[in-house]
Amino acid sequence: MGTLRKLPTNLLEALPADMDVRCDGEELSALADDLAYRGRAPLAVIRPATVDSLAEALPLLARRGIAVVARGGGLTYSAGYVIADRAHVVVELRHLASIAFAPDDEHVLEIGAGATWAEVHAWAAARNLRLCFRGPASGLFATVGGSASTDAVGLGSGRYGSLADQLRGLEIATGTGEILRMGSLTDGRRETPHGRFGPDPMGLFVGDCGAFGIKTKVALPVAPVGGPAAFGACTFDDAPSQEAALAALAAGGLCEDIIALHSPFPDEDSQPACIEFATDPATRAAALEHCTAHGGREAEAALVAELYHNPCPAPAMMVGPGGTRWLPVHGIVARTRHGEAMAAVRQTLHDHSQLMEREGLTCGLSSMAVGRDRLLVEPSLFVPDRPPRMIRRYLPAETADTLRARPTRPTAEAAGDRLRCDLIRALDSCGAQHLQIGRLYPFRSRLDAAADALLATLKSHLDPHGILNPGVLGYP
Ligand SMILES: Cc1cc2nc3c(=O)[nH]c(=O)nc-3n(C[C@H](O)[C@H](O)[C@H](O)COP(=O)(O)OP(=O)(O)OC[C@H]3O[C@@H](n4cnc5c(N)ncnc54)[C@H](O)[C@@H]3O)c2cc1C
Repeated sequence: MGTLRKLPTNLLEALPADMDVRCDGEELSALADDLAYRGRAPLAVIRPATVDSLAEALPLLARRGIAVVARGGGLTYSAGYVIADRAHVVVELRHLASIAFAPDDEHVLEIGAGATWAEVHAWAAARNLRLCFRGPASGLFATVGGSASTDAVGLGSGRYGSLADQLRGLEIATGTGEILRMGSLTDGRRETPHGRFGPDPMGLFVGDCGAFGIKTKVALPVAPVGGPAAFGACTFDDAPSQEAALAALAAGGLCEDIIALHSPFPDEDSQPACIEFATDPATRAAALEHCTAHGGREAEAALVAELYHNPCPAPAMMVGPGGTRWLPVHGIVARTRHGEAMAAVRQTLHDHSQLMEREGLTCGLSSMAVGRDRLLVEPSLFVPDRPPRMIRRYLPAETADTLRARPTRPTAEAAGDRLRCDLIRALDSCGAQHLQIGRLYPFRSRLDAAADALLATLKSHLDPHGILNPGVLGYP
């Protein structure tokens, strides 16, 4: 353990004996930032060995007014865990990462919130099972607890929706250290792990970015590994044809995954518009027909097939063309408004084309089906500046150091941030909703006043001392 200069000694002595406490300066400063935001280093990182130890620590921290922010893989990029103005400790749940079947039910897994998606995939595969919703593409590092706190889409979303749609049970620690167990994890109901019924409170905690509690356990369904998957892809001559095919394919509900790559901006001719999908052999022809009926020409499905077989790739997409910094933004829109949302995004990029050219910014564009009715639109800005030092945790050391040697480009960074905010406004004008709200996407301002008052009351009930990730989602 390094020097314990900042965490009050009496607090350190009071923490449960099995709490792993780290105060090494370098380790702490690496926890200050995410991919897009700069924050303040925490006083310490604490890693509870048990849920009880976390429950014991929270009131001790509250009594001293020290804030607490949970951190999973650290791969969100909307300031979900970045605190700039308050003394805080980071909680990592890597010791709470056990994976087991629910009692008497081998179709539900009870997963410690600190387990990564890669660990869950490996555990399930060893038993000839697979997750239904298979997690985000960042699953090599991202944790199940982190993804439940951002909500997440990813592999399987075409068929199963987002993680919220798949959640069976949740265990959380509140700001006072009280433990709540919901859904299939409810005490006394664990032999009937069928999840939610009636006005189940679980949904209040999904996508809360840790504002309402720290997730310690998540229950998710698994299914037997099925037969071989089938993949398909088509390219399109123009955006309207691709748009029509994407809408038809999503609505058809035949595919487990549907990913559309749109022409990038500004160099629209550098990549053809295409759609890739994963489905079953029996439905492949019908899925392909949705694309060819709208002018699609069959091509090879490279991306979906690769992700299907390796759902947790190294996060190489953090680095854009020419070593640029990836700065993504997204919105989930109704399938019927996807064309409108794409047009609004392209108009915003056109409006900023001079700024983008001057600062050397480019933008990739993709979409993904979330169930039959929703499509996620993701503009990926590429900014030619220096990436934050946190990339060292995720990329090979040599790559990270080469990228870190790039000059800082404050004007390019400011242009990226401005464009990102304008893209959010454009998506929101088409009714977009967001995952990983953090401190980037507007939340409270979009609630009805009565609903906002209800959630504010809930926040003060669950976190009366205001220690849980203050500022996130707009709650002090
Ligand atoms: C290369 C790359 C690919 C990505 N691909 C996808 C994708 O396919 N789909 C997608 O949806 N997102 C994606 N993301 C975004 C991100 O990885 C996801 O939001 C992921 O679910 C975050 O999980 P995490 O464990 O890294 O959480 P973190 O980033 O550590 O935390 C996210 C938020 O949740 C809170 N939190 C973390 N753990 C807990 C807990 N146990 N209890 C309460 N609050 C907690 C944090 O305070 C923070 O507000 C990607 C990011 C990168 C960099």
